[in-house]
This record gives sequence, structure tokens and C-alpha cells, in this order.
Amino acid sequence: MATFRQRALNEAAMHQTGRYYEEAGPVSGYFGKNVLDLDKMRKYMSQKAYEAVIASVKFGAKLDRSVSDEIADGMKTWAIEMGATHYTHLFHPLTDSTAEKHEAFVSVSEGHAFEKFKGSALVQQEPDASSFPNGGLRNTFEARGYSAWDPSSPVFIMDGTLCIPSVFVSYTGEALDTKAPNLKSMHALSVAATRVASLFDEAVSSVWVNLGIEQEYFLVDESLYNARPDLMLSGRTVIGHTSAKDQQLEDHYFGAIPSRVSSFMKDFETEAYKLGILLQTRHNEVAPNQFECAPLYCEATKAIDQNMMLMIIMQKVAEKHHLKVIFHEKPFDGVNGSGKHCNWSIVTDTGTNLLSPGKTPTKNLSFLSFYAAVLKAMHRHHFLMMTSVASLSNSYRLGGNEAPPAVMSVFSGSTLYRVFQSIMNMKDIKESSSAQESITIVNSIPEIFPDNTDRNRTSPFAFTGNRFEFRAVGSSQNVASTVYILNSVVAESLNEFRDEVDALEADGIERSEAVMKVVRRFITESKDIMFEGNGYSKEWEEESEKRGLRAVRNVPESYEVYHEKQTLDMFSSLGVLAPNEVEARFEILNETYVKKLQIEARIIGDICLNHVIPAAVRYQNILIENVKGVKEIFGKDYMNYCSAEIETLKKISTYINNVSVDVDALVEARKKANRIENIAERAKVYSHSVKDMMDKVRLSADNLEMLIDDEMWPLPKYRELLFF
Ligand code: ADP
Ligand code: MG
Repeated sequence: MATFRQRALNEAAMHQTGRYYEEAGPVSGYFGKNVLDLDKMRKYMSQKAYEAVIASVKFGAKLDRSVSDEIADGMKTWAIEMGATHYTHLFHPLTDSTAEKHEAFVSVSEGHAFEKFKGSALVQQEPDASSFPNGGLRNTFEARGYSAWDPSSPVFIMDGTLCIPSVFVSYTGEALDTKAPNLKSMHALSVAATRVASLFDEAVSSVWVNLGIEQEYFLVDESLYNARPDLMLSGRTVIGHTSAKDQQLEDHYFGAIPSRVSSFMKDFETEAYKLGILLQTRHNEVAPNQFECAPLYCEATKAIDQNMMLMIIMQKVAEKHHLKVIFHEKPFDGVNGSGKHCNWSIVTDTGTNLLSPGKTPTKNLSFLSFYAAVLKAMHRHHFLMMTSVASLSNSYRLGGNEAPPAVMSVFSGSTLYRVFQSIMNMKDIKESSSAQESITIVNSIPEIFPDNTDRNRTSPFAFTGNRFEFRAVGSSQNVASTVYILNSVVAESLNEFRDEVDALEADGIERSEAVMKVVRRFITESKDIMFEGNGYSKEWEEESEKRGLRAVRNVPESYEVYHEKQTLDMFSSLGVLAPNEVEARFEILNETYVKKLQIEARIIGDICLNHVIPAAVRYQNILIENVKGVKEIFGKDYMNYCSAEIETLKKISTYINNVSVDVDALVEARKKANRIENIAERAKVYSHSVKDMMDKVRLSADNLEMLIDDEMWPLPKYRELLFF
């Protein structure tokens, strides 16, 4: 009888390379074809309706009922021309995924069928949303939530459905998604950054965030994936012995892309291009079967929407290729995990990147102001920032020696770091020599500023010449939940910066001197967050602790940061999240943590009892029969001829016993934890007792994998999952 694994391996061997989504002609010919951008919109509606959309996109103006019907009608006409039959509001609930509920355009009146799409259906939809996580924000008797169109993201067609990017809020207006607070944080940041930018350039009237999101992922053959219940249900392998060869030869990174994978990449790129997603790079990553793609950066809300769409497209396209895309941060033990590096910069409406040093002293003074404000924000909220990426899945990756450490620091590069050192070392800025010194420093930045190749890949938050790269974000995460926190902490710090400059100016201090004074104070106060060395080293672990930087060592424990006054004050003073909305997120984070760990714990139990132990017992019996036979033939001398079998038998029997005992203990640990009423406390107990027990179970199961006849092992092995 062939095992499930053998059948899967046979099937996998039949899977071929092919292209399924080719488009004729150059990419420019079909780029953005499935998106109704502003240019196209103009053709499908009157000038009045079009202007209403523009006002809404640019200035957040509310759409009047009188025009919304016309806008909806224009969208419907376009969508039907494009072959769409349904529409849906697409929103980002607090689950790191997207949600959609499709409604047909078609309607019937007096036996006559026609397509209908009203303005009210465009602007608002009421999904029966009672089963989305809400962290207590909705009572079951008032379970309604509604989604509302966010005109700043264009509508598009996917799979024959008109998709309407939306926010998702409770009936009483609290945010139930990641998009609403993100939009609010963009606004808060725009206001604060404009206040600071206008110190140097009065023409600036708004500021926006640019994001470039690099996406890492693994690919696994579909048949092998289907033969691994753990991958299917939890996104990662909960058992599995490391492969003799994995990434130690460093031969995968930037290596030749296997042809089956490159066909898949070309296909999903084509689909992404049609949705206006400008993918620019593709390459192999460090671990075997690990890859990365990155789009050209764009406005943050759009970049986030596009990243979420990209993940969906990749999954869909992969089906045709008999592949599965694994976005989990750590699907395989022993090889690198995956991240979603967020390249973040802020730009004025006059086109200036505020994180880019320039050729003039004013530009550099502005650059230093923004940089100092970021440092201050990262220092003050370092633990919150690190917690913003903390999840069960990312916890398997962070803090390992291949991913950003669990403690926040900012890497600036040697040149800039030297600039900060000299600013901090300056004597009182009022003295003329110091004022002179500061001008020299500021003047010299453009000349001494290196190209952005000065990289430190061990830093969670690194400056790369004209942007920051937040490398600790998890590959499966919706980055909005991190970006709105980053925007908010920086907005708070920029407001403070401007207030202090204003106060100094009111005291009669000249502006550039006042700015330098505040820059110096901000940098000095935040110097502990700056770290240029190796973030993976033991020394840094000790040093960061000495500096008072808190590390995220335990995920549910770190969530307590959402109860700290400093966090709550920051969110509410900026109008990003009210305390009850923060509390709801706290609840949901803990709930998600528990549920995911519970699933993993169940799977490891099931796999061990239903797959591992039965296979091990079968092999154990073969060995027992063998020893009996040897004994029959050789009598009392039998030990001379089967000591190896006996040794193996002893080991196998011990491990079988361990697995069985430890699975029982795991079930007990779970049951005990489940009795804890308070979700945050339950999560903490899970994070210790349940997780520890899973590690124990895994150890014995992985040992069995090494002992049992390969033919009999039921689950695809790492070496099979990780290499095409
Ligand atoms: P690397 O892997 O070397 O960091 P990639 O080319 O893979 O570089 O990704 C870099 C990402 O940063 C891309 O998405 C790119 O568009 C983005 N990026 C470049 N400049 C900016 C900027 N000023 N603001 C935000 N993102 C940027
Ligand atoms: Mg990259």
C-alpha cells in the first residue's frame, strides 16, 4: 500500500511548467486595464459627477446622494463592458486578510431582467458581519457593521467582480478594520508633517506617505502541500526534521529561478499589471523555495491595498501551476523565515521627499528635523513599534539569527551617525562657535552622504538613503496595522517638534538656531535607539537591555503595551483610535493568538496520533518480527546478529512512548488554559505551557522521522517540500 506521501510525490513529479495568463504585446498595453482610474472615470460620467469624485479623492469630501447614483451607474457600465457580473465591497477586517461578499448586478422586474447598481450600494454595504472579530465593540444584539467606499482607492475588477475598496465600521462608528485607522493616521501625519515642513517651505500644504512593500514567500507543490495537514491548516509545518541540505551553501539567494517558478511569477505579474500593480523585482531568497517580489513604491493606502490584492492574485494564479504560496513567517524550522519589508518615506505636495538630504543647508535642516522626529518617535514608542509586528506566526521568525531581533533599534549608516555624534557633542548652540559648527555640519551633509548601499540587514528599522526600511514586519501581515502605528508615533513627535520650535522663536531665538536646538535635544534624548552594530549579537541583547530598550520576548505579554497610558494618549490625541478601539484590538490580538496556537496544538496532536505513531508502530513491529526471526535461527547467540535492530527498537519505542505521553500532556495543558476566562491571561498561559509542550512533542516526532523506514514515513519531508 502506497503512503499518502508516495502518492503525493508521484503526483508532484507529473506537474509541469506552463503559462496560463499570457497577454499579447508589451506590458504598457494592458497595464491597469482592470482598474477604473480617474482618467477612465471621466469617460463614464458627467463632469459634475467626475468632479465630485475628485473632491472626494483629494479632499475627502462626502459624496452627495444626487451624484452617487450617477457614479455608480458609470462604474456599472464600465464593469459590465469588462464582463463583470457581480460587485463587492472589499475590506480589511482585523484578521490580516481581506473580506468580500459578492452581490449580483442582475435584477428582475415583471419578468424582465436588467443590471442594477445604485449609488447607495456603491457608498455603503451591510455585510452580515457578526462573525468578524470585533473585540467587544459590537454586542450581538447590534451585530451590524457596515462597509463604506474609500474613494481614495480606485475600484477594480477581479474574477468577474467589481471590487470596491472600503472601510469597515461598527454601527456606532468604531473602526472594525485596519484601513479606517490607517486613513486617520495618514491625516494626522499630514497635518503634523506640514507644520514642520512649513518651517522651511511655506508652499507645503499637505504631506503623504509612500510605501514600497517587499513581499517574501515560499512555494510548495500543491500535492505535497495537500499531504501535509499542518501546512494546510496552520500555514506551517509543526513537525519535520531538517533536510541534510537546506540553505547552508547559500546557493539559492539570487540564484537562477527554477523554470516552473519563473512561469508562475510571469503569470502573477501579468495579473498584477492588469490591476495597476507595478511589480519591479523578482528573485530567489535565502531559503530554498523562498522568493521575493517588490512593486515600485506608491502612496501608502494604495500600496497596502495592492499588497493585499497581490497576495490574493498570487494564491489564485498558483492554483493553475499546482503550487501553493506560503505567506507564513516561518513555515519551516531551520531555514530563514519570510518578512514583508516596508520601505516608508514622507513626501510633500510640492514633491519633496522629507527623508532625503539635499544640496542646500535649508533642505538639510529640514531633513535633520524629520530624522530627529523619527528617532524620537522610535525611541519613545520602541516597544509599541516592535509589538506592532508581534504575532504567533512572526514570533517563530523574529529574534532568530536570520531575522530582525526582537528589540527595536534604528540604523543610520556610518556617515549620518557621525553627523549625529557631532551634533550631540556641540556645546550650547547659542555660542557663536557652536552655531558656526552646526552650519558646517548641516552644510556638509550632501557631500559626505554616501550612496545607500551602506546596509545593515540585522537592523529592524534601517535608514537607506531616502527612506526607512522596517524589516521586522511579517510576511502574512496586513502592513496597515503597523503603518498606522508608525505614522501616528511620528506625527506625535513632529507636533512636539514644531511646538518646541515655536516656543523658542517666541523667546526671540532665530529660526534655524531654534530648529538646530530642538534637533539636538531630540537626537540626544533618543540616542539609545541608535545602533549601528550587529543586531543578532549577544552583545546587543545585553547592551539594549542596559539602554532600557524592551524586547518582545513573549507575544501576549507585549500586547500589554496597548494598556499603557503613553500609547492610549498618543492614539487618542491624534484622533487615530479611541481607547475602546485600542482595547478591541488588544482583545482581538490575544484571541487570534490563542486560536492560532490552539489550531497548531490540535494539529500536532492529530498528526502524531494518526500519522506518526501508526507508522512508527508498523516499523517497530517489523523490527520485532525481525528480532524474533533472528532469535529462532541463531538461538542464544542472536544478540550477535541483531544488536543494531535492538538499539533502533529501543529508541523507537522510547520516542513512541514520549510522543504519546507528551501529546496527552499537551491536551491537558490546553484544557487547563481554556478554563481561564480572561483572554489576555489565557494567551499568556498558552504562550508558555502549550507552546513548550508542542516543542517537546516535536522533538520526539522529528527523531522518529530519522529512524523509520523512509518508505513508511507518511508525510512529505523537508527535502521534498523545499526543492523543486
Ligand atoms: P532591497 O531588497 O535592496 O531593499 P528592493 O528593490 O527589493 O530593494 O525593494 C526596495 C523597495 O523600496 C521597492 O519597493 C522600492 O520601490 C521602494 N522604495 C524605493 N524608494 C522609496 C521611497 N523613497 N519611499 C518608499 N519606498 C521606496
Ligand atoms: Mg528586497
